[in-house]
Amino acid sequence: MYRSHTCGELNAKHIGEKVSLSGWVQKVRNKGFMIWVDLRDRYGLTQLIFDEERSSKDLMEKAENLAREFVIQVEGSVIERESKNPNLPTGEIEVLVEDFKILNSSVTPPFTIEDETDGGEDLRMKYRYLDIRRNPVKNKLIFRHKVAMQVRNYLSQEGFIEVETPYLIKSTPEGARDFVVPSRMNEGQFYALPQSPQTFKQLLMVGGMDKYFQIVKCFRDEDLRADRQPEFTQVDCEMAFVDQEDILNIFEGLTRHLLKEIKAVEVDKFPRMTFDEAMRKYGNDKPDIRFGMEFAELNELAKDKGFNVFDQQELVVGIAVPNAASFTRKEIDNLISWVKRPQVGANGLVWAKYNEDGSLKSSVDKFYSQDDLKAWADKTGAKPGDLILVMAGNADKTRTQLSALRMHLGNELGLRKADEFAPLWVVDFPLLEWDEETERFHAMHHPFTSPKKEDFALLETEPGKVRANAYDLVLNGNEIGGGSIRIHDKETQSQMFKYLGFTPEEAKEQFGFLMDAFQYGAPPHGGIAFGFDRLVAILGGQESIRDFIAFPKNNAGRDVMIDAPAKLDEEQLDELHLRLKL
Ligand code: ASP
Repeated sequence: MYRSHTCGELNAKHIGEKVSLSGWVQKVRNKGFMIWVDLRDRYGLTQLIFDEERSSKDLMEKAENLAREFVIQVEGSVIERESKNPNLPTGEIEVLVEDFKILNSSVTPPFTIEDETDGGEDLRMKYRYLDIRRNPVKNKLIFRHKVAMQVRNYLSQEGFIEVETPYLIKSTPEGARDFVVPSRMNEGQFYALPQSPQTFKQLLMVGGMDKYFQIVKCFRDEDLRADRQPEFTQVDCEMAFVDQEDILNIFEGLTRHLLKEIKAVEVDKFPRMTFDEAMRKYGNDKPDIRFGMEFAELNELAKDKGFNVFDQQELVVGIAVPNAASFTRKEIDNLISWVKRPQVGANGLVWAKYNEDGSLKSSVDKFYSQDDLKAWADKTGAKPGDLILVMAGNADKTRTQLSALRMHLGNELGLRKADEFAPLWVVDFPLLEWDEETERFHAMHHPFTSPKKEDFALLETEPGKVRANAYDLVLNGNEIGGGSIRIHDKETQSQMFKYLGFTPEEAKEQFGFLMDAFQYGAPPHGGIAFGFDRLVAILGGQESIRDFIAFPKNNAGRDVMIDAPAKLDEEQLDELHLRLKL
């Protein structure tokens, strides 16, 4: 028997018991006459003691050879500690070692394996298996498991069946590049890894599965922005015989269940906001509604007052920053430089301080009277003590820039509190999105999303105005889920492919299987997928998803531990009928 107890288990109740423990040596303190060893396993830390007076000479000598990360098995008795550690569950006791075995030695680890480590990110990723021994990482993986279990519990209770779908498939259009896998047996042909199981889950609905889910890996070959992974996990779901309302209810239920079980947080019915409203009020289709600073459009109040800069612009829009009238000139200048950085790309920022005494002071006092500025304050909802910030320009761009500023201020002013949860649904997304580069429309969600019936006629005349039965679940400024009601008849689906610029031949070649299936009694259906890594990170109160993934890739898409991707040798390339052109 390697162990009678774990290293996180023993306390004052066990005093006097003979126990055996197995684990890693975290720390050795050798005072000569006494040696203390911190023994670690997944469950915690237990202090071992070797004592000249109570342990044999042999044992003392053997203990002197112990070093960090040796794996040992000890036999001993639980005794009361002289100096207790109230911060440690096992802090009242220690184990007086009677005998021990070295199960494996260790070379000196490249960084200290403790909660606070001297290892930088790169080093920790290269030796991720050592990093996982540390509490902060280990606990996040355990946390992820708990969330996954709660997802499975809830969905199973609601009658969903987890079905696995294949990884070696054909392209799925989720808007990214595919990762491809050459087929040895089918010369010159390639599989694509799924960007999501989208078409398969729809085929499961045709197959009568009715309520499907899967916690599943998806693969997207995208330029990696911060905190994106080329392979990531979705909670992927689909239901038949439902309309949008049914889906929103079920998955609002799932989110509420997770918040309650994992965070002990109860939330009210989720607010709903149309895409248009979200863009107008927050400049963003995933607004963080934990804090105010809603956009106020100031065109009517700010134009035609002699301030040229505003007069020529499509949109003048402002926010009231709470309690920021006290910002110094320097702080405001910093904000101005911040919005002018290429990442934001604004031309500038106009400000007006609403002083505590009710007076207003602005960077454009020359053009606007106190009454004018008071009207800005009323429109933005500013109170005495607040700072009004205003931007102007092309409507879409300006909204995006002001949104970036709003989020920046939300972070700076500590308004985005990790322990506050504000979910909402954003609904009525546009069906199509104009792509400047290719000069054509793309499906904003994916080509299987159904347009709103009442907008159908617009497809011919104003395709950009057509709204979709598509929805996103947003939590604290993050899109954590997105889905849609699908097209389920062949005719509409082929029309959609046509609007997206596919020739009938291309549509048939890529998605013939789906349109064929639609001829055999496809039920009305719809679904959603949650980004599981992000969901777990948000529930865990963190911004970064990386630590919640056991073996993540770095920003260049590399696994630095196993050193992948890697070259293939000639023989493998030959077998795959591949020749490199480098
Ligand atoms: N397949 C979609 C996605 O990955 C989700 C859905 O429409 O259900 O975003």
